[in-house]
Amino acid sequence: MSFADLPPQPRVQRFLQQLVRKGQVPHAMMFCGMGGVGKAQLAKEFSKLLNCADPKDLEACGRCAPCHKVDVGTHPDLLWIQPETSIIKIDQIREIKQRLRFRPHEARRRTIVIDGAHNLKDEAGNALLKILEDPPPRNLFLLLTLESQMVLPTLVSRCCRVQFQPLPDEWIAGYLADTFEIPMDLARALARRSDGSRDRARALAEENQAARQREVLDRVRRLASPSMMDLFDLTADWAQKTRDLEQDLECVKFWVREILLARIGMNDASGPDSPEDIGSLARRSTREGLLELYDTVELAMQHLRQNANKLLTLEGVCFAIRRGLYGQGHWNSLS
Ligand SMILES: [Zn+2]
Repeated sequence: MSFADLPPQPRVQRFLQQLVRKGQVPHAMMFCGMGGVGKAQLAKEFSKLLNCADPKDLEACGRCAPCHKVDVGTHPDLLWIQPETSIIKIDQIREIKQRLRFRPHEARRRTIVIDGAHNLKDEAGNALLKILEDPPPRNLFLLLTLESQMVLPTLVSRCCRVQFQPLPDEWIAGYLADTFEIPMDLARALARRSDGSRDRARALAEENQAARQREVLDRVRRLASPSMMDLFDLTADWAQKTRDLEQDLECVKFWVREILLARIGMNDASGPDSPEDIGSLARRSTREGLLELYDTVELAMQHLRQNANKLLTLEGVCFAIRRGLYGQGHWNSLS
């Protein structure tokens, strides 16, 4: 992990690196910016840079023992305070005070991150203020918050303020495309609605995935219709309108797997489909039939990757679902 792997905040990154270069890192800083723009990740990376055994060009090496400990969350001198329930409690600040009585175990600069500094109310806030008024050496306080106006003004005045920017759409789109394996045009559309927040973009992508699953399962349910003409219409409509048939079949595969697990009694029937549906389909199917259907879907996905005809491949899957799950025969009901 290096600065390049984090959500990009080039101005903040350069500013922090300059402080390190000049040896002017203050004892308390406040990272301000909306959720999902990389404040916590940058706080960690900054702590690494300050304590790295072998930094190069103002970047932590990412390989030495201190870097590794920060990465895996075991560094004894990186303290991370988060609200318990909705506030940061006075006891949490007292605990920090206790720790500050001793020098850092191994770090050049111990880092104390207060994640959600706007959740510091009067008592805890004032206790922290007392610490910041007379900070012991070799400690760095990083207060993370959405907006400095939300934090006790006395605390704000003790900190060097650093403003984070919304993330660029193009970076968010790339992140979504990689993480959710969605096409780039969809990723870009979601990124534009994310206001530059990776968290919001993730939520939108998850919502989109859930909506897609619902849409695919709606199509699948209609395969229960006894009319063969309906089947052809449904399949043609599906093949024509889908954005990514392979992804659709991934949803189908997941759904068949849920039914199979319910069939062999290993599933709590959670998921995008309602438990009743999964349960009743499981009761009506055989384990062998479901396994065969699962293989059919998987094989169809393979064929699509090899550029097989979309409509024919989908028809094959739809027939198999109809036969395997809805007990509809092949051609006998063509009307
Ligand atoms: Zn290192």
